[in-house]
Amino acid sequence: MKTLARLPHRLAALLVAGTLGSCAPATGVAAEEPAARNVIFINGDGMGAAHREAARLYHLGQGGRLAMDRLPYSGQLTTSPKDPVSEITDSAAGATAWATGRRTYNGAISVDTARRPLPTLGAQAKAAGRATGLVTTAQVTDASPAAFYANAVDRDAQDDIARQYLEASKPDVILGGGEDWWLPKGTPGAYPDKPAADRTEASRGTEGNLITRARSAGYQYVSTPAQLAAAGPGRLLGLFANEEMFQQRAEGRGDVYQPVVSLPTMTGKALDVLSADPDGFFLFVEEEAVDEFAHQNNARRVLQAMWQLDRTVAVARAYADTHPDTLVVVAGDHETGGLSVEAVDPKDESGAGTSAEDGPLPVKNTKLRFTMDWTTTEHTGQDVPVTAVGPQADRFTGKHPNTHVYDVLAPILTE
Ligand SMILES: [Zn+2]
Repeated sequence: MKTLARLPHRLAALLVAGTLGSCAPATGVAAEEPAARNVIFINGDGMGAAHREAARLYHLGQGGRLAMDRLPYSGQLTTSPKDPVSEITDSAAGATAWATGRRTYNGAISVDTARRPLPTLGAQAKAAGRATGLVTTAQVTDASPAAFYANAVDRDAQDDIARQYLEASKPDVILGGGEDWWLPKGTPGAYPDKPAADRTEASRGTEGNLITRARSAGYQYVSTPAQLAAAGPGRLLGLFANEEMFQQRAEGRGDVYQPVVSLPTMTGKALDVLSADPDGFFLFVEEEAVDEFAHQNNARRVLQAMWQLDRTVAVARAYADTHPDTLVVVAGDHETGGLSVEAVDPKDESGAGTSAEDGPLPVKNTKLRFTMDWTTTEHTGQDVPVTAVGPQADRFTGKHPNTHVYDVLAPILTE
């Protein structure tokens, strides 16, 4: 390698630029990194390193790179909760660590181990004058989004969480599933009770008609793709399913991943609305189907959901490319399924009995095949990858406890 001194000046400057990031090539001085004004935090629920790799091989092939893996900074997060009986986290404790910087028991929504409410990132960002929002393919009141905008000793209190959204944290954009928790028994809403796909779904809220209350509080309420597309500026509530926006089942047992509105589309709309705020915004985005179908050891649906998640990351990245004061972070709250990417070899099973193996699955653009091997239908304690781009994204390199997310985001969002 020629020493820098002997390289043509422009090439030397570019090499320096490469190492110093976005510096003006001629001067060699690093351009001032803009302060982060906006944060887009994306959760692939249940997504571990193997989920990323399986999606890469299946959708892009050996030479491909997912949008989430193209983000320039990467690290790992540990996910231990502070639970009296379990070392393995659930999504409630996982998201509480992100949203409050505190580890707590499984099932807790941003309360500490003594069940005391903790300040959340969503409420703090709002108090600092930012616009805030959440987008998910789960119920909008499910554990992960709820931890950023509510406090509850039990994650199942989804109607109370919805009430808190309207009365306390007031996110400007709320898009996803979960209509059943906003309406009282006997008021079916836009999505009928007891549908053929899942007879257990039905309106079950105990806080009255929260959709009517949301409208009186100034929210536009939408329930179809056309209404969402037509929605104007200002506060927006969109509920597109009774519960989750998919049917989480084992393969061939009524498993469906066909959200009424796709996650990339909901995210694009949320960005349109939130970016109108001159003070900046905080947006939480989640693909819940990775976790739910991993619980079913359903590889094909996991791969489908991973692709929608990666298209969503591409939407967020494109936004950050034109708004350099935007930090985008992509992580999983825990790994689900004990997934590994393996060769096609039925004899390679170790231990008694056989674990669920899905495949053979094609490696895109090759004749090669791989299998997705599951060791459990539950969450595991594996580290999860985190990738990021934008101001302060470099703080996600290295290995950290999941509470580190709060340590990086809170100073930015409360600024
Ligand atoms: Zn789960």
